[in-house]
Amino acid sequence: MSAFLTRFAPSPTGFLHLGHAFSALTTFDAARMAGGTCLLRIEDIDTTRCKPEFEMAVIEDLHWLGCDWPEPVRRQSDHFGEYHAVLDQLAERGLIYRCFKTRREIADDIARAPHHPGEGPEGVIYPGPSEPMSADEEAERLEAGEAYSWRLSITACRDHLGARFDRLTFIETGEGPDGETGEVQARPETLGDVILGRKDVGTSYHLACTQDDALQGVTHVIRGVDLFFATHLHRLLQELMGWPVPVYRHHPLMLDESGKRFAKRDQSQTLRALREAGETPDSLRKRVGL
Ligand code: GLU
Repeated sequence: MSAFLTRFAPSPTGFLHLGHAFSALTTFDAARMAGGTCLLRIEDIDTTRCKPEFEMAVIEDLHWLGCDWPEPVRRQSDHFGEYHAVLDQLAERGLIYRCFKTRREIADDIARAPHHPGEGPEGVIYPGPSEPMSADEEAERLEAGEAYSWRLSITACRDHLGARFDRLTFIETGEGPDGETGEVQARPETLGDVILGRKDVGTSYHLACTQDDALQGVTHVIRGVDLFFATHLHRLLQELMGWPVPVYRHHPLMLDESGKRFAKRDQSQTLRALREAGETPDSLRKRVGL
């Protein structure tokens, strides 16, 4: 196994834009400079938003940028069974629970929580139901074919890991949003009981990404600082599953001229639009400051 294995893991929900180019070049350059390898991984668990034509465009745009990766490329939508197997293991150990609630019911639970959980770095924190659903009710709702998501129980994780829960750390070689760097204490509880298995697709970004990083032997995760808080949760999943812990580097996000993050809707900033307007891979590198 390579001593430095990283990955670029786009979701093919649109065309790549300047922000993606910065992230991709940062990641592929880091692998090259370390004498390592960068994989391409297609994160397409959202089968409604992800499209094969965008996947083809991603590959074409990355090749145009000069990025190369070993084949075969892992496509997450080919591996739903593996993510379900991880959920099965977590369920057997009582670390996740079925949640049949609607958004509305979740909001009501939050409003009724004894200590208002407030907002976490990723939005409203769901502290879990006030009391667990009875086995009878759960069986009935399953029987009726009601849809549910799987949520990680922070309380169960704490009980399971004991003192280890408060000693989870990861190495940050870039910077978190508040300048966090070096050995960072993971605080997964700041995200609440997050969804690991979505109602619609049965898995989640967090689960698929963390399991794939482990399975693919990724040693270095390089990605945007918008995913810094996700890393706190990913670190907990690694501990629960006995997966290795990669080194992390969160890079700043590229902003557009008005200081906002590039969004998929900015069609003028897609790599294909820029290419058609005469941009070359070299001029694009300069444009993103690399
Ligand atoms: N698929 C994620 C995205 O498009 C990136 C995941 C990661 O690098 O961990 O934002």
